[in-house]
Amino acid sequence: MFVLEKIAEYAKDANRKAVIHGDKVMTYAQLEHYSNAFADYLLKNGSNKTPVVIYGHKEEQFLPCMYGALKAGRAYVPVDITFPADRLEMVLSDVAPEFFVKLRETDVAVKEGTQSLSIDKIDDIFASYKGGAVANENWVKPEDNCYILFTSGSTGRPKGVPINRANIENLYNQLISWCDIEAETDIITNQISFSFDVSVVSVYMGVSLGKTLYTIDKSMMETPAALYEGLGSSNLSFWVSTPSFAELCAMSEHFNEKMLPNLKRFLFCGETLTHKLVDTLHERFPNADVVNTYGPTEATVLVTASLITREMAEDPKPIPIGEPLPEVEFRIVDDKGNLLKSGETGELQIISDNVGHGYYGRPDLTEKVFFETESRGQKKRGYRTGDAAYEQNRLYYFCGRMDFQIKLNGYRIELEDIENNMVKVENVSRAVVIPVMKEEKVDYLAAFVLLTKAIDGPKLREITRIKSELAKLVPAYMVPRKIVLCDSLPTNTNGKVDRKVLAAQL
Ligand code: AMP
Repeated sequence: MFVLEKIAEYAKDANRKAVIHGDKVMTYAQLEHYSNAFADYLLKNGSNKTPVVIYGHKEEQFLPCMYGALKAGRAYVPVDITFPADRLEMVLSDVAPEFFVKLRETDVAVKEGTQSLSIDKIDDIFASYKGGAVANENWVKPEDNCYILFTSGSTGRPKGVPINRANIENLYNQLISWCDIEAETDIITNQISFSFDVSVVSVYMGVSLGKTLYTIDKSMMETPAALYEGLGSSNLSFWVSTPSFAELCAMSEHFNEKMLPNLKRFLFCGETLTHKLVDTLHERFPNADVVNTYGPTEATVLVTASLITREMAEDPKPIPIGEPLPEVEFRIVDDKGNLLKSGETGELQIISDNVGHGYYGRPDLTEKVFFETESRGQKKRGYRTGDAAYEQNRLYYFCGRMDFQIKLNGYRIELEDIENNMVKVENVSRAVVIPVMKEEKVDYLAAFVLLTKAIDGPKLREITRIKSELAKLVPAYMVPRKIVLCDSLPTNTNGKVDRKVLAAQL
């Protein structure tokens, strides 16, 4: 597999840096050695090929464990610490892994047959390994899954999206032109948590091209002084993130070409890129390209890419999500599946070898959105995105979702996931979650809540209790910022809750 072969090749240069995290550096030689050590451990101690679940956040052991799993012919399932214990337990129950790597402490229960490996154990495995490269006949094969990412599911249970080696290699071959900056010393961001697919650009494309991953972790992001100091000393040349992270950085006027003099390209994915951000970046980084890309996890990270010109930024139309990559076909269809004409808005379907094979262990969900079709004379997989879009002059424009899925600060959230978890909180009988918009994007979430029993104490205390109970069931970013306790909910003529009326109250 290209990324594993490339790591071995770059490891021959003992000084080549793979990852920088604060004042720690991991060379490609160490990455190669540690991933071989972990692969060897899995091969010697494992009895099946179940995916390896890795729980943590940007620890230096995370990447070697991911590549080590691939070298041992297994997929990995990265679970970020934003997942509360309840969700982590659901993932463990769906995957039933033989190995569970705990890079952070958690008291989550594991089933019999699952071996938990603590961070100390992983360090031991790395330190004690005396062997060499793990033979590549053990590596994942083209049809084998490389990773499974769990995303928000409307039922209140996350759903796993497996992506195989062929999907990733197909993406790599098409994206290479957008990633290829010549110098060996190129430094690329490693900010997106590994459980979110935009990180794949750095983990697969960045590493395959021998770049250095510059880590920006959660604690850095929570302390503006540390973030700006880190960025200032990073010497980044290639930026990959959601627009939300760049917006956060742009809150300081010092986020400009002086802070990052070698920055040549911003590559965005995952949510709407706003005019405001494009204008800011064009002004503050006149020598850097801004590239917008679009894609769902189900179709391997991204399926478009477009350089955003000043002309596009000046056009009042939304910033385009771009042109499909060469192998990708887009279809815009109406609600009966009929193809629409250029300029007409409908659901966007992706037809490509980048489309995965469905949801992990969920044929019912798979059947609803994945399909097979013919494209350019070949059999291909298709995916119904649920995104409304239109095409004009070969560029595609995103017009929002057709269902209750949203993006908040780059996180993919099914509003029904929150609603279904809120009713598990004591004294909540019904919850309706509304996204509040600002400047082309969701600004925050608000929930209208009906209680089972009237409360005696102050409303604020009840709201705080609901929020903290909910935070045990869903990641913190899914807890609505505003909760409104109400006696009844407005309904429309179909008898359904009228979300528009509720939104107008905010
Ligand atoms: P995820 O699976 O987390 O990557 O989320 C996929 C969804 O994010 C898509 O179906 C879109 O709704 C949204 N999305 C991804 N990229 C973009 C983009 N460049 N502009 C607008 N929305 C996007």
